[in-house]
Amino acid sequence: MEQIENIVLSKCPWCDSPDIRQGSKIHDYFLTREEFSLFSCNSCGLVFTNPRPKLENLGLYYQSDKYYSHTSSQVGIIPFIYRKVKEINLKTKFKQVTTGSVINKVLDIGCGTGDFLNVCKKSGKEIHGIEPDSKARNLAKEILKVEILHPDQSEKIPDESFDLITMWHVLEHVPDLKKQISELSRIIKKGGKVVIALPVYESYDAEVYKEKWAAWDVPRHLYHFNKAVINKMMLANDFKPGNVYPMKWDSFYVSMLSEQYLKSAFGIVKAFFVGFLSNIKARNSGNYSSLVYTFIKM
Ligand SMILES: [Zn+2]
Repeated sequence: MEQIENIVLSKCPWCDSPDIRQGSKIHDYFLTREEFSLFSCNSCGLVFTNPRPKLENLGLYYQSDKYYSHTSSQVGIIPFIYRKVKEINLKTKFKQVTTGSVINKVLDIGCGTGDFLNVCKKSGKEIHGIEPDSKARNLAKEILKVEILHPDQSEKIPDESFDLITMWHVLEHVPDLKKQISELSRIIKKGGKVVIALPVYESYDAEVYKEKWAAWDVPRHLYHFNKAVINKMMLANDFKPGNVYPMKWDSFYVSMLSEQYLKSAFGIVKAFFVGFLSNIKARNSGNYSSLVYTFIKM
């Protein structure tokens, strides 16, 4: 891949403060090997990738069969485990986020090929999806037999449309964070639930793998959240924090990818132990490798 021109941010993409400081340098181990830095905002605490790809170039960082093979066709032990785990995971996710709420209309933002929406559909929910990638969007349309919108079409969604909006490892990829969160606030019903799954850089697996922690995933991940920061952002948009659920399989998956980046011998065995320990330690700290945050619209 030829050198791609990036944008250097001189202020925080959330609060616009120029008081930002440079932290660790992280490489794009997944695709380009380019180097990016983690910056943190001294004012609001957000950690963000800097520089970041230009909007028109973002797609280039996803142009890898590898990115889709996470979900479908790749052979080998890791993709196999991933697919099996995903099946179980989807059902668990659905149960967690729907239990105790009356939910009819569901929107999945960044729905990919529609796996989560498919589970919702089978349970009789009215489903809607948004997906930027045209390949994934068309596939989702075909499978689900519903219209899937491009993110640019979000504005045509009427106010207070949904009982449940989900973003499964999506918010960290969204170019305009402020706009996305205010859109969530606009299109969710009062009392409705927004579900945001995010990697946790304060987890034990992040501590072990440091710069090679696969869930940094720069520059695809433009932001790196912790609980305090995401809560503050959502509160500023009229959401109150609800339940938080662990994603216990993510510690294993992220550790396996990280071991691949390290090219270590017996990587799978090491990854298993790190993943296992990460979940044990998180019982006290709450910092699982990934967390599912839920928010209720006030
Ligand atoms: Zn800030």
